[in-house]
Amino acid sequence: MSVVPESGTESGTPWSVTSWQARTAAQSAKYGDPHELARTVEEIGALPPLVTSWEIEELKAQLARAARGDAFVLQGGDCAESFDACRSEPIAAMLKILLQMSLVLVHGTRKSVVRIGRIAGQYAKPRSADSETRGDVTLPAYRGDLINRDAFTPQDREPDPRLMLRAYERAGLTLNFIRALTEGGFADLHHPEYWDLSFTKDSVYAAEYRKIVDSIRDSLDFVSAITGVEAEALRRVDVYTSHEALALPYEQAQTRKVPRRPGHYNLSTHFPWIGMRTAQLDGAHVEFHRGIVNPLGIKIGPAMTTDWLRGLLDVLDPERTPGRITLIHRMGAGQVEARLPALVEAVRAAGRTVLWVCDPMHGNTETTPSGVKTRRFDKIIDELEQSFVLHEQLGSRLGGVHIELTGENVTECLGGSGGLVEADLERAYKSRVDPRLNYEQALEIALRISRHLRS
Ligand code: PEP
Ligand code: MN
Repeated sequence: MSVVPESGTESGTPWSVTSWQARTAAQSAKYGDPHELARTVEEIGALPPLVTSWEIEELKAQLARAARGDAFVLQGGDCAESFDACRSEPIAAMLKILLQMSLVLVHGTRKSVVRIGRIAGQYAKPRSADSETRGDVTLPAYRGDLINRDAFTPQDREPDPRLMLRAYERAGLTLNFIRALTEGGFADLHHPEYWDLSFTKDSVYAAEYRKIVDSIRDSLDFVSAITGVEAEALRRVDVYTSHEALALPYEQAQTRKVPRRPGHYNLSTHFPWIGMRTAQLDGAHVEFHRGIVNPLGIKIGPAMTTDWLRGLLDVLDPERTPGRITLIHRMGAGQVEARLPALVEAVRAAGRTVLWVCDPMHGNTETTPSGVKTRRFDKIIDELEQSFVLHEQLGSRLGGVHIELTGENVTECLGGSGGLVEADLERAYKSRVDPRLNYEQALEIALRISRHLRS
């Protein structure tokens, strides 16, 4: 890739869309053909953006509201999107569950809910090991559809730059469908029945959900009766996109200046986040993100220290821009009480306002005796409830949740009202990476949060 010197000197050293290349990029693919990589980056860079700077600025404003306590964030989606799941049913089902959950959360929080999918770009994954061994064959690990292929052959596991272009196209197709659905009748708040998933009626939570829907519809009818207007705004909803900005060549490709606005926007997504394994202060990912103006998520796990966190905030948000930083903590039910308070105190002591979001998934992953990666519903709820209480005790505020989920009826996580047990896991385990809450478990999470907040 060519090094184009560009503006941006936030922390003394010049930033450019390629300055990250001088740093170590953890978790990155090693491409055999640098010219093909450079050509692909250039090709994606010449294609139209997936999102616009207007949308990004609007989301930043919404996140700033959430940080002040005036809105609540629901961020959710697959652990990893796959190219072959870029089909109408899974996308529509994901949208439906996000809309249903957000409705339940509006009811519980009495606040507007900002919906952010882990979608239209969540194609690259950090892995705990660089390689995978089966029998006496060792191959590079599968790193997500944007990088290589899942099948266990040397050709499939070879990082292929052209997959980046496929990822951009899949993201575009996904986003096009989401935009069409959310702008037309599908997302009309007067007709939440359009979002029903076929098995809602069998759920033990069906009655509770119905009651919430009815009460919201009554409120809407009431408002339109006294104002005499059918609010057009209620017929459409905003859904923003997010993904882990892990594959920096892909992120770089869509990062550019826009007319009449200062700074560089990463136009591959509204809300990129820095994962736990790539948050090194002197690493390539932090270097890349400091120079873009999108709102940023930072995942923080049990290993995060107060000094490290302060360092990240100083580098990534020197101007203290409202809505810029969302800290997504993922400590695990067993560790959140020990780990979170010092970090919350450190942010406060630095005089900063951030948005705190809880990811109750990634600190609660376990492997069953038969070797299946899973998560227990009770632990997920436990970490969420502890997080709400801890923030409150610390005079802080939990402003959102980050969940791995699907609108499909998979069996990947244990527990929930459906009472999934270990023997069920093999029935419909579809994730190639982390286990997701299924439709019913996801709705149940929203209802439990809602109840917790109203009590
Ligand atoms: C993820 O969100 O899928 C992920 C890998 O998270 P983390 O960086 O928090 O481990
Ligand atoms: Mn995951």
